[in-house]
Amino acid sequence: AAAPLGHNVIPIVNKLQDIFAQLGTSKTIELPQVAVVGSQSSGKSSVLEALVGRDFLPRGSDICTRRPLVLQLIQTKRKPDGSDEEYGEFLHVPGRRFYDFNEIRKEIQDVTDVEAGGNKGVSDKQIRLKIFSPNVLDITLVDLPGITKVPVGDQPSDIEARIRTMIMSYIKLPSCVILAVTPANADLANSDALQLAGNADPDGYRTIGVITKLDIMDRGTNARNFLLGKVIPLRLGFVGVVNRSQEDIMLNRTIKDALVAEEKFFRSHPEYHDLADRCGVPQLAKKLNQIVVQHINTVLPGLKARISSQLVSVAKEHASYGEITESKAGMGALLLNILSKYSEAFSSMIEGKNEEMSTS
Ligand code: GDP
Ligand code: MG
Repeated sequence: AAAPLGHNVIPIVNKLQDIFAQLGTSKTIELPQVAVVGSQSSGKSSVLEALVGRDFLPRGSDICTRRPLVLQLIQTKRKPDGSDEEYGEFLHVPGRRFYDFNEIRKEIQDVTDVEAGGNKGVSDKQIRLKIFSPNVLDITLVDLPGITKVPVGDQPSDIEARIRTMIMSYIKLPSCVILAVTPANADLANSDALQLAGNADPDGYRTIGVITKLDIMDRGTNARNFLLGKVIPLRLGFVGVVNRSQEDIMLNRTIKDALVAEEKFFRSHPEYHDLADRCGVPQLAKKLNQIVVQHINTVLPGLKARISSQLVSVAKEHASYGEITESKAGMGALLLNILSKYSEAFSSMIEGKNEEMSTS
C-alpha cells in the first residue's frame, strides 16, 4: 500500500538529497520529527498507522502505548522488478528483519511488557523501530502514551504528572511537529492534547489539531465549528479523521478499506461535505507534507551559503596552484543554480498553502 504521508514530497526531497550526496554531504536535510499527543484512547496510534499506511501498532480501548515508540521511516531504493519489500528493524534486535508487520506489533507488545510490566505500567524508556520502505519519507514519528488521570494496575499515584513530563520532553523541541489528537466524542474544548501542545508551542507554529472519532459523536452534535477554528483557533488548523473502530480492528479491516470508508463518510455527511480541505487522513498527510516543504525552504538558504563558500575556497585553492580546473567549480555553480530553482518552487508551493490555510 502506498503511504499517503509524503507521496508528493518524496521526489523533491530525493532530488535534493541526491544533489547533496554529490557534494559529499548526504545527511544535509534533517526532516522534522512528528509526535502525537492526547489523552488515552483518543486515537493517536490509529492516526500514525493511517499516515504510514501499514498495520503494526498496538491499538485498543485500554492503555496500549505504554512506552514511547520512536519510529524512523527510511526510504529504500525501489527495485526494478517491482518486488518492493518493506520491513522493520528494532534497535534492541539488531540484524533481524521483520517482514511480517503483525510480528512487529507483537514485538512492541512484548518489549513493552519487559520494561513496563504486564499490568498497565508505563515507562519512559524508548522503543526504537526503523521501517524500511520505498514508499516513505525519511521522517521520524513518535507514538507516545496518552494522558491518563486515574492510576490503574501497577501505575503510580502520580501517573498523570509523569506522563505529562514524558510527553513534554518530546514536544518541547522546536523541531518537533505536534499532532494534537482530540476525540470528537469527548468535550473538545477541554482537550488535554491542545492544552499540552499550547504549553510546548504557545504560538502554534508547529501544532496541527487532529479530531478523531467524528463517526461516533453524540447524535445531533458535530465538530464543524471546531474544524473551522471557531472554538479554539490554531494557526495550522484542524483536520478531522475517522479511523477504524475497535470492531473494525477485531474484524481485521484493512487500512485501505478504512480510508475508502472515511472518504465516503465525509463526502456524504451534511455537516462536513463542504469542509473537504480539513477532513480525512490524506488531508492530514498533505498538511504534514507542506510543513516538510516549508522546513526545507527554511534550511535551503543556509545550505546554499555553505555551497557558495565551498566554491570560493575551491577557486582559491586552484588559483594558488596557478591552474584552472573547470570541472569542480562548474559543478558547484550548476548545483547552486539547481538549488535556487528549488527555492523558487518551494516558495510558490508555500504561497499555495497560505492561500489554502487563510480561509479559516
Ligand atoms: P491511543 O490510545 O490514543 O493510541 O488510541 P488508539 O489508536 O489505540 O485507539 C483507541 C481506540 O479507539 C481503538 O479501539 C480504536 O479502534 C478506536 N478509534 C480510534 N480512532 C477512531 C475513530 O476515528 N472512530 C472510531 N469509531 N474508533 C476509533
Ligand atoms: Mg496508542
